[in-house]
This record gives sequence, C-alpha cells and structure tokens, in this order.
Amino acid sequence: MSERVWTVKAALDWTQEFLAERSDEHPRRSAEWLLSAATGLSRLELYAYHDRPLAPEERTVLRESVRRRAAGEPLQYVTGEVAFRHLVLKVRPGVLIPRPETEILVGELLVELGSMGAPIIADICTGSGCIALSLAQEKTDARVWATDISQVAVDVAAENAQRLGLADRVGVAVGDLFEALPVELLGTLDAVISNPPYIPSSDVPDLPREVAGFEPHLALDGGPDGLDFFRRLIGDARAWLKPGGVIAIELDERMVRIAAQEAQEWYEEVRVVSDLAGRDRIVVARFAGRP
Ligand code: GLN
Repeated sequence: MSERVWTVKAALDWTQEFLAERSDEHPRRSAEWLLSAATGLSRLELYAYHDRPLAPEERTVLRESVRRRAAGEPLQYVTGEVAFRHLVLKVRPGVLIPRPETEILVGELLVELGSMGAPIIADICTGSGCIALSLAQEKTDARVWATDISQVAVDVAAENAQRLGLADRVGVAVGDLFEALPVELLGTLDAVISNPPYIPSSDVPDLPREVAGFEPHLALDGGPDGLDFFRRLIGDARAWLKPGGVIAIELDERMVRIAAQEAQEWYEEVRVVSDLAGRDRIVVARFAGRP
C-alpha cells in the first residue's frame, strides 16, 4: 500500500492552512516555527529542502504541536524555545515568555554598568532567567543572582544557566523578591534589575487570550495599580544596593511616570526609557545611599 509522501513543503502548506482556519493570526510563521522545531531544520532550510520527506517521528511531533497551537497556546511554549538578545532560552508553561522590551531593559543596565569591573547584580523575578543569563553572557565578569517565587521558574532558569554554560556565574534561588539572596550580599550589589509583574489586577482578564489563558498570572498581576512589586523592589533594594548602585525596572507605560516620581524619594538620576514602539516602559535610577 503506498502512502502519500509528506514533504516539508506539503507539511508547511497543510499546517498553514489548518492554523489559518483556526484563526491563528500568523499561520505561515507558526507553520514555519512548528516545522523547524519538529525537523531541526532552520527556517531557511525548510525552503532549501522543501522536497525532503518527513520521518514518521517528525510527523508525530508536528501533529501534536499543531494540535496545541490550534488550541491557542503560544508558539514559544509549543516549541519550547525563545530567542532573547544573543541567547536561545528554553521556556515552558509556568514561566513568562520573554518579550522584546525586556531586551531593552537589559541593554539599559549594560550601558549603566559601562566598563565597571566584575559587577554584582540581582535579577529579581527571573522567570526563564532571560535577564540574568543575558547579563552574564554579555558582561563576562559579572556575577548574577537570580530569584523567583515560582519553583517552576527557578527550575527553568537553572536549566537554562546549565545549558548555556553560565551556571558558574549565575546563582538561581527560589524566594520572594530578595528573600533568597545570601545575607552577605547586603549593601554590596552594584545593580538590581527586574521585570516584575506589573499589569493592574483588573486588566489581567482582558489581556489577549494567548497571554491570559496560558501565561502564569503570578508573573503578570501587579496588584490594584500594577505597582505593588515596583514599590516593594525600590524599598527593599535600598538594603542590598551599594550607594551609587543602579536599579532598572520594567513597567506598564501608564504607570511609569508615577513610578519614576516615587523612586525620587530614595534614588537619584531617575530616568525613563522607552521601548521600540516609543512607549515609556523602564525606570532607571541610582541609589543615593543610606542617610
Ligand atoms: N524576568 C522574566 C522575564 O522578563 C520573568 C518576568 C516575570 O515573571 N514577571 O521574562
């Protein structure tokens, strides 16, 4: 009995059509990602080897991932990977999918640190570890501590640190904000960086279904006005930062001005940075030191 040969091209076209019917907004892109993940071919190779038949195992993987994507699950969870700055990180349900604006947050801190030798940095609410790991990879003498209250996040961040060969300079620990840091670090940090939960609670249910239905609400919900974690961060960071140490925190654009104002109480050189779409998203400031 002859079975139809299922080539890369046939699979791509079929997947695109199937997902388009299930209201995927970018069915071609999804089809490419899913097929790349199932075959190990890059997106370019999908076209170069369009005649290559899929192996039975590849078809099984593709079928399962198409089913998940058709149910609305974010591509990054389905393929298990996301690109962030110079890294490819593993992600899975239970950790926030890293976003492009967070790449800017990392870039801003790198600019602030400049040529400072061997900085000690804490990444609070690390999720997948994207911030901590990028800092360690791009500032090769940095020592980074990464914490998260979610055990799933800490497991994923630790796996990413191992896999990327950065575990010797990135310490990952579970705990609420600064709670998991070793006490010896009090007053020694050169920088505190965070992409904390910052969506106002009442807005969380209105986020796109792909976000609200699949990403952890723990990583999104920032309390009544979205600033609960921001306020705790700028307050607690004073005990951990050196005088002159830097904080860099990502926020909702609607709250960033208020946040910057609140930071003035204890911090100097407070500035706001916008994302690629020109929205104010990041507060950067320098700790004035204990009076
Ligand atoms: N630091 C992680 C990120 O930027 C997780 C953030 C979070 O869980 N709120 O993706």
